[in-house]
Amino acid sequence: MNLIFLGPPGAGKGTIAHRVMDDLKVVQISTGDLLRAAVAAGSELGQKAKGFMDAGELVPDDLVIDLLKERIAQDDCQEGFILDGFPRTIPQAEALDAAEVHIDKVVNFNVDDALIIHRLSGRRIHRPTGKIFNVNPDGVPQPPEDVPTEEFYQRDDDKAEAIANRLVVYRDQTSPLIDFYTQKGWLVDVDGTGAIDVIVSDVHSALK
Ligand code: AMP
Repeated sequence: MNLIFLGPPGAGKGTIAHRVMDDLKVVQISTGDLLRAAVAAGSELGQKAKGFMDAGELVPDDLVIDLLKERIAQDDCQEGFILDGFPRTIPQAEALDAAEVHIDKVVNFNVDDALIIHRLSGRRIHRPTGKIFNVNPDGVPQPPEDVPTEEFYQRDDDKAEAIANRLVVYRDQTSPLIDFYTQKGWLVDVDGTGAIDVIVSDVHSALK
């Protein structure tokens, strides 16, 4: 089964993908993670992508399309995958069509802006493990109390100004994909606002 997880930044796409991937026997592919790895490795792609990412802008289509095509050609993707954060523009979606990549369903997570800003501004990454926590009083999961706070960092694009920009970018460039995939008959909507267990179960129901 090949799936696309669509939705604004902070909609929970990555979290939910991790929760359903084993059940669905698919791998999760996050273009954001692939790009951050390229930045960390200091590769040519990473150097080109970094400025766009820090500002909350999209990395140019040609770079991301090549990266994604390379990834889905690998052996572990042949049984199925969840694309988390790709496509983010109509040209990216058209590139999937042109490459004849079969997609079974597009799960569209609905979350309003206030909740997105709240979630993203509380997100912190544990530097040694890469695990994601949330420091908001209602954030899940909370950072463990016995881990020193210096071990957590905030992504540059989770800072207030970049979040605002990411929401504008989502509205202008990514949300047209909702119509694009509705017209193909592949889109299913899921409410992304509730408890993670509820969202996971809604995703399973939507895929039946
Ligand atoms: P994410 O982790 O999915 O929120 O992605 C982090 C950042 O990586 C985004 O704000 C973009 O700068 C870049 N990015 C990730 N996926 C894409 C994509 N499909 N197209 C363009 N830029 C992307």
